[in-house]
Amino acid sequence: MSKYKAVIGLEMHCEMKSNTKVFSSARNEFSELANINVRPVDMAFPGTLPVLNKECVRKAILASLILGCELPEYMYFDRKNYYYPDLPKGYQITQMHDPVGINGSITIDCEGKEKIIKIHDIHLEEDAASMDHFSDVSLINYNRAGVPLLELVTEPCLSSAEEAVAFLEEMRKIYQYADISEADTKKGQIRCDVNVSIMDEGSTELGTKVEVKNVNSFGNVFDTINYEIERQSKLKDEGRYDEVVQETRRFDEETGTTIRMRTKADAIDYKYFVEPNIPKYKIDKTWVEEIRKSIPELPRERKLKYINEYGLSEYDANIIIKTKDYADYYEECISLGIDKKQAANYLIVNIIAYLNKEAISLKDFYLKPIYLKQILDELEKGTISSKQAKEIFNKSLEEQKEPKVFISKDNNQISDINTLNNIIDNIISNNINQVNAYKSGKTNLFDYFVGQVMKETKGKANPTITKEILKDKLDN
Ligand code: ADP
Ligand code: MG
Repeated sequence: MSKYKAVIGLEMHCEMKSNTKVFSSARNEFSELANINVRPVDMAFPGTLPVLNKECVRKAILASLILGCELPEYMYFDRKNYYYPDLPKGYQITQMHDPVGINGSITIDCEGKEKIIKIHDIHLEEDAASMDHFSDVSLINYNRAGVPLLELVTEPCLSSAEEAVAFLEEMRKIYQYADISEADTKKGQIRCDVNVSIMDEGSTELGTKVEVKNVNSFGNVFDTINYEIERQSKLKDEGRYDEVVQETRRFDEETGTTIRMRTKADAIDYKYFVEPNIPKYKIDKTWVEEIRKSIPELPRERKLKYINEYGLSEYDANIIIKTKDYADYYEECISLGIDKKQAANYLIVNIIAYLNKEAISLKDFYLKPIYLKQILDELEKGTISSKQAKEIFNKSLEEQKEPKVFISKDNNQISDINTLNNIIDNIISNNINQVNAYKSGKTNLFDYFVGQVMKETKGKANPTITKEILKDKLDN
């Protein structure tokens, strides 16, 4: 535990979902094959011009509205000039002067507490190409060049690695729920710049910040922050705080440390100016209102609903909202009239476990809510036991057949009292010796009788009712 207060600000880059790229008609789609989603604009062929993708603008505005940001009156772009092999134009089209959103905030839950995270701005820009480095050559893949990116910049208001990751997780869910992005770190869709400084407890003056660029997983964000807090605290403890300088570093996965890339003195002057190839235009207010109306129910709203209205535990609610697929599946169960806790239990205990075991997603899961209902209805009526329910669940998945096929065929429980009475009467009159032994104190013979009933009914007797009748007949 550091004796200093940590201050963290994040710049989260997230690739958006869209049919085509933000300024060209090349497909915006992940591909194992290099250089197949490429149009001349993406490679900066002379004479080509960017055309702004309306779907990307709509999603950027949607993100801005969700974050409660102020929208600009006009939409336009800026040129950020620098040279790098993955940037054939020699500049990136981004938004600097009037981003699509400023001054927003979102509420997150972290370690049992609510916290409001302030958003400095969110802007729309294009991704660069990607490079693969080998021992003697480097290869450039233009599939990523021009992929739409949303960059979200927080205020320096986060105070721990836990909070930073909770924020990123919340944003990932929001992007997924609003269909703005798949937000999949495994596909490299999210990259963060992590800014960290420390200050004395009670001080109002921010310390010197260090920027760690291009951190590519939430785990690495967590480690980066803790490493920097420790590094900076140690220097401060030793009276060497002047060695903490405003600089850009990178996270080294192998050692779990950060390494200097460049100091402020080598900072690049991007010579920003308004991008002349994309006309500035007024954002239509009616359109903005339409987009506002399309904001879906967001993960945190759903979580609060599950806890406060459906009576789920916070733990269970958190599992269900983890992905939109889970939450949608759950809500479909509820709308079919399945009991809220029963549905949550089945989803968490059986379905998610099954998905993990089979490594498939809910989209490829055979038992749609309507099928799950067939099982849970019988369970509720008491015609099948919970053990049988689980068996039907497994069988139905195995054979990809509706549960009701198995319910009517061989799993139907015998719960009819008259039928069971007759069976039990027969067993009692055929086992007089055991009955006498039971009555004279060998009460562990009870299970023997239950076993006889099960044998007679091929396991279909409802165990609860069977035991009630047996007790009644043997004990009186
Ligand atoms: P720069 O001018 O270096 O780009 P900005 O003020 O634009 O810096 O902020 C960039 C990011 O750094 C933001 O996410 C912001 O919250 C964060 N940041 C700014 N000052 C600090 C600080 N003292 N400690 C930690 N993060 C900071
Ligand atoms: Mg940036």
